[in-house]
Amino acid sequence: GERQPTDLNALADEYLRLAYHGWRAKNKDFNAELKTDFDPRLGPVPVVPQDLSRVLLNLLTNAFYAVAEKAKTAGPAYRPEVAVATRRTGGTVRIRVRDNGNGIPVAVRDKIFQPFFTTKPTGEGTGLGLSLSYDIVTKGHGGTLAVDSQEGEFTEFTISLPDEG
Ligand code: ADP
Ligand code: MG
Repeated sequence: GERQPTDLNALADEYLRLAYHGWRAKNKDFNAELKTDFDPRLGPVPVVPQDLSRVLLNLLTNAFYAVAEKAKTAGPAYRPEVAVATRRTGGTVRIRVRDNGNGIPVAVRDKIFQPFFTTKPTGEGTGLGLSLSYDIVTKGHGGTLAVDSQEGEFTEFTISLPDEG
């Protein structure tokens, strides 16, 4: 695909709602709070929209899975949350996808971008989402894909894209 100037705020908002809708279609009693914090100065960013969409869908599907898993064992006070935020700082555009699920154990954190690595039961995960996302962001867009997580607390993925504007 070709890069084209893309409103990443609109794309991220669209895919947050799409992923939530898709998750709820399969998990009727599931509810989560969606949070957004979009930088109005983002402007159009040159990306391959179909590819960036796949990255967002992968990250968001993982996020909903993580909060749904935590909801199974956490008490009634637990409020699942999935948040998307964007920021422009100089020539870099960042998209953050954050969830307050169970986090990623330190022992597996350096394996999650490897193809076929999954901690999910057979049929629920292929282990390809993050490795594909990593390639799209790095090789496809010259950016970086980073993860921050605390076990039991949160996971946050940050897509950073160069945009010399
Ligand atoms: P899959 O979702 O098919 O397992 P991915 O490549 O998308 O494959 O993710 C690989 C693994 O990374 C997951 O199985 C899970 O262990 C971990 N992971 C990814 N995103 C999250 C998240 N938001 N919270 C907790 N663990 C995650
Ligand atoms: Mg996945």
